Amino acid sequence: MRKFWPELIAVNNIVNKGKFQIAPAYKHLRGDVPIVDWKHLTCHNVAEPKRVFILWLTLLGRLRTKDRLIKWGLSVDDQCVFCNSAIETALHLFFNCPFSHTIWLGILQWLQWQRNILPWNEEWKWVNEQARGKHARERILKASLATVVYNIWIERNTRVFQHKSRSIDDILLATKTGLCYRFSSNRKYFDFI
Ligand SMILES: [Zn+2]
Repeated sequence: MRKFWPELIAVNNIVNKGKFQIAPAYKHLRGDVPIVDWKHLTCHNVAEPKRVFILWLTLLGRLRTKDRLIKWGLSVDDQCVFCNSAIETALHLFFNCPFSHTIWLGILQWLQWQRNILPWNEEWKWVNEQARGKHARERILKASLATVVYNIWIERNTRVFQHKSRSIDDILLATKTGLCYRFSSNRKYFDFI
């Protein structure tokens, strides 16, 4: 406890006009944290939290894809469960793989974004740029990215662990239905989908 005294005293000294303020104290305790490039994708993302969490893991490069498992020494088949013609990496899953590429493209077209999909490291940056806006259309876009990444990752896990599979059309329908349901109580968002 003794070693924390200097910190506690320093926090206690953060007083403005005689009042203790939480925000400066929090910043003091947190220290200097680098601001990540993709903060607009995960902050204020209106998708369900578990979907944003998987997006966050993907952006951090922490998904347990087969290439990472092999690096850790595990003996697993390294092929993508969707196309069976490439090593499973995050870069391949999002969205170099023809399977996931078709799903993300289908959702973009459904949301009236007409464009070609870029490799993951550029694609998330594009969504991140759009996500700086506070308009409903941009907010739906970043929620859709979280939802698609989540649905593809869940489908991948279902194929690997349960040996069950859904078609591209099934996943597209589930994604669109999920987004409609998510936004059904908010007219501002629902009018865009
Ligand atoms: Zn593939």
